[in-house]
Amino acid sequence: MIPGTGLVFDIRRFCVHDGPGIRTTVFFKGCPLSCWWCHNPESRDVSPETSVRHLSLDGKALDRAEITGKWMTVDEVMTELEQDRIFYEESSGGVTFSGGEPMLQESFLAELLKACRQRGFHTTLDTSGYATREAMEHTASLADLVLFDLKIMNNELHRKYTGVSNQVILGNLKYLHQAGKNLILRVPVIPGITDIPENITGMIAFLANDLPAPLPPLSLLPYHSLAKEKYRRFSKPNQLQHLPDLIPEDLLPLKKQFEDLGMKVSIGG
Ligand code: SF4
Repeated sequence: MIPGTGLVFDIRRFCVHDGPGIRTTVFFKGCPLSCWWCHNPESRDVSPETSVRHLSLDGKALDRAEITGKWMTVDEVMTELEQDRIFYEESSGGVTFSGGEPMLQESFLAELLKACRQRGFHTTLDTSGYATREAMEHTASLADLVLFDLKIMNNELHRKYTGVSNQVILGNLKYLHQAGKNLILRVPVIPGITDIPENITGMIAFLANDLPAPLPPLSLLPYHSLAKEKYRRFSKPNQLQHLPDLIPEDLLPLKKQFEDLGMKVSIGG
């Protein structure tokens, strides 16, 4: 860690899936989880990484080394975000903090959330929910909207497929919902892992019994294999490399099951 800075691996403009309107998404590098289906494998390590990109130029193959991850100050990030102010204002959009896991760099995240609030930028926090309760109370509460992942209800299977227990995550979800936080739940739909009947039944029981009504909206995220090349480039094992992609229509029966709980459910985003 470099004092006064945070490790960022991308700042992506004109995003439309991670919160309302047109958004600029700041991707934090570093994540305590290791989900088998992660589509940002370059986001997991808490340090800059060098990878080699294979390019073709005029029929010639070229290898170019790239560094992913840059230590940035809050002022440097805010200078980037200010450039898109007009788009936030015109589209009722704003800024999304994603990753990786932004809560892993809690004080840097808190400073950015405060700086955005001072400028009137709407903020969204995209989190796995794996953070201390204090971090949830002090930092997640600064975001206008929290996108909160719900993955696997069986704790042993959660450990197997993500590397960590789900107990802290489920406790934080209950806390944020009871505290009245503006939430959208996100369920990555991974064939044979998160979409198995036992898991869906477990999620429905948790939502019905452990979260007071009204329940937050929920997005179902269909599995895709677009990160395949990144796994190769960053030399990370891709345990789902043979899994076929889902299309939104595959998720319609699942959508109906959550809608039967009275939830507003969307596919994608
Ligand atoms: S929580 Fe998100 S960023 Fe972290 S490993 Fe899982 S999918 Fe990847």
